[in-house]
Amino acid sequence: MNNIAIAIHGGAGTILRSALTIEKEQDYKTALEGAIEEGYKVLAAGKSAVEAVKAAVVCLENNPLFNAGKGSVFNHKGKHEMDAAIMCGQTLGAGAVAGVNHIKNPILLANKIRRYSEHVLLTGEGAEEFAREHDLLFESDTYFFDPFRYQQWVAAQHDNSVTLDHTEDRKFGTVGAVACDTNGNLAAATSTGGMTNKKFNRIGDSPIIGAGTYANNATCAVSCTGHGEYFMRAVVAYDVSCLMEYKGLSLQQACEVVVQDKLVKIGGEGGLIAVDSYGNIELAFNSEGMYRAAKKGPEAAFIAIYKD
Ligand code: ASP
Repeated sequence: MNNIAIAIHGGAGTILRSALTIEKEQDYKTALEGAIEEGYKVLAAGKSAVEAVKAAVVCLENNPLFNAGKGSVFNHKGKHEMDAAIMCGQTLGAGAVAGVNHIKNPILLANKIRRYSEHVLLTGEGAEEFAREHDLLFESDTYFFDPFRYQQWVAAQHDNSVTLDHTEDRKFGTVGAVACDTNGNLAAATSTGGMTNKKFNRIGDSPIIGAGTYANNATCAVSCTGHGEYFMRAVVAYDVSCLMEYKGLSLQQACEVVVQDKLVKIGGEGGLIAVDSYGNIELAFNSEGMYRAAKKGPEAAFIAIYKD
């Protein structure tokens, strides 16, 4: 049996110990633990990496603490526009969705696109039509209404600013998962509500294959979180894979170069989670913190928020 391994993130940014109450910190840890255990259970049952990342991301999407699914931020019009992507490292099959409203779990829609569509990325109304044809669950505005996200939006509207989750503490609440299954197959998944008060159907890096999400059995699986405009320009997830494939770097070395050097040089704040087919895991970020968890064996999961 190969080394099964899974990692998840719930966003990166200036997440300072002083800014979180003990209770809030515990809420985040419990949420991360629930999601990683859910994904790990799938791997331990001998199921695929794709199934595992899907299960973990669904858990995070259903938790309003994170900026994805239920907890998605409001756009300029006071609506939710969600983006998600999933990729299988064995087949290089990928599915992604952008700018959807009312879909309960955008990651499940991305996975349906991967499996049943001849395309990779669907957006807006067309993606919702595809979701209806594939019996995905829709939810009302009430389900997606979160008072905290609403206050962020009111503040952003007042300042006429476009903010990443919330700018005052620069926290990016996107969620993601990467996994290596018992056959050494890899998968990556990412889901987000994007930026508070975003306009003009802005789409970030999360649903862009190669930027925010990428998986290839020959190298690694990667899911990113951070300021999407920089992650797209740096083609972050694919760059980690390329450094391994073309330069022979290890997973750890490749993540270090991309996150601590290349991204920093262009001003890109955030981080990523990555796994290779040996079950090595990297949780790399250049911000103050990243909600993250990793689990490789039956022992308790590693769960952390801050840098130290
Ligand atoms: N990367 C996401 C975006 O730019 C934001 C995040 O990671 O929270 O849409």
